[in-house]
Amino acid sequence: MSSRKPVIAGNWKMHKTMSEAVDFTRQFLALVTDVKDVEIVLGPPFTSLSAVLEVTASTPVRVAAQNMHFEQSGAFTGEISPPMLKELGVDDVILGHSERREYNAENDSDLAKKVVAAFASGIRPILCVGESEDEREGSRTEEKLGEQLRGDLSGIDADQLAAMVIAYEPIWAIGTGKTATPEIAQQTIAFIRTTVTSMFGSEAAQAVRILYGGSVKPDNISELMAQDDIDGALVGGACLEAGSFASIVRFQ
Ligand code: PEP
Repeated sequence: MSSRKPVIAGNWKMHKTMSEAVDFTRQFLALVTDVKDVEIVLGPPFTSLSAVLEVTASTPVRVAAQNMHFEQSGAFTGEISPPMLKELGVDDVILGHSERREYNAENDSDLAKKVVAAFASGIRPILCVGESEDEREGSRTEEKLGEQLRGDLSGIDADQLAAMVIAYEPIWAIGTGKTATPEIAQQTIAFIRTTVTSMFGSEAAQAVRILYGGSVKPDNISELMAQDDIDGALVGGACLEAGSFASIVRFQ
């Protein structure tokens, strides 16, 4: 493992009402009070952000939104702006999740603007990239990831790259129970680090945390975390139950 501080982030997707979010967060915090060497991120839906921020207020746990518009305000019905999240106290924003790319037609040009807008408002982006099953089987993984990284990171500088988080999430492994083998995850994340090295230089590329996401569970986290370039996990299904997410946070 590298000297980069591990990040374990939970993407709740469209799960939990506000009262469920509060109950979960209290239960989860009680299980991780002694964890100091892992950065923990909770990603509830917009409607629970305030409540989760309140429950986590006196802890180091970070809170992430799951999306954000790139404009400051405007006629964008149903959208949420960077200053709205910043005022709440949100720390991070998950951008470019494959579900948003697929169901909400989010593209690399929108994402480039969102990454810039997040930094402009002092919110840390957690940018998701990943290939489909067809792309992996057709040996187009590197082409796809290169395209996403060059597009989505086109508006930032090396210091910003170093400060953000990237999540490699192969679409074929999300919610399917098919985890990438630790070797595939390591090899692909090493490719992402090489790509950002060519874009931003090696100091920034060695600093950026790159997570793996896709059916991470308490029983596979340790072998993933043992890989040199894997700096943590973005967790979907297994982050919804306090005991299971706490076990992932305690991977060591
Ligand atoms: C995700 O949605 O980001 C994810 C990784 O989901 P799961 O862990 O359920 O595969």
